[in-house]
Amino acid sequence: MLKKRYVLTFPTNLLHEPTTYHLIKDYDLVVNILRARVNPNEEGLLVLEVEGTKSQLESAVKYLQDLGVGLQLLARDIKWNEKVCTHCTACIAMCPTNAFKVDKKTRKVTFDKNKCIACELCVKACPYGAIEIEF
Ligand code: SF4
Ligand code: SF4
Repeated sequence: MLKKRYVLTFPTNLLHEPTTYHLIKDYDLVVNILRARVNPNEEGLLVLEVEGTKSQLESAVKYLQDLGVGLQLLARDIKWNEKVCTHCTACIAMCPTNAFKVDKKTRKVTFDKNKCIACELCVKACPYGAIEIEF
């Protein structure tokens, strides 16, 4: 069994397509939704962790691509080094998924790995090298 993570982007005409249901029912995959953002009239975003055999995953990818869903494999991880972080908040504005947040009271920055889609925008934004890409 293989476990992979994908970022799915949905054009507005596919927002109501029950893709997760099909991945589970038709392709027999174990699906874990890591992140979902759906706003009417905007592109939808779904970050999924899927588990299945190689052929099940390949068939599911083909189904999504044929449907017109944007697909990006998440092969990398982002590592936040809390000890190096100065909580300058420079990364926060860069992050499209709010994986980096600042606590309004303490002014401390936190990182929620489950929200991260590994777009790497924060890596260059951090002036202290507190964010790294893990291969
Ligand atoms: S890579 Fe950085 S900017 Fe991109 S989603 Fe993850 S935490 Fe946010
Ligand atoms: S940009 Fe770097 S140092 Fe600044 S809050 Fe983000 S991770 Fe910490």
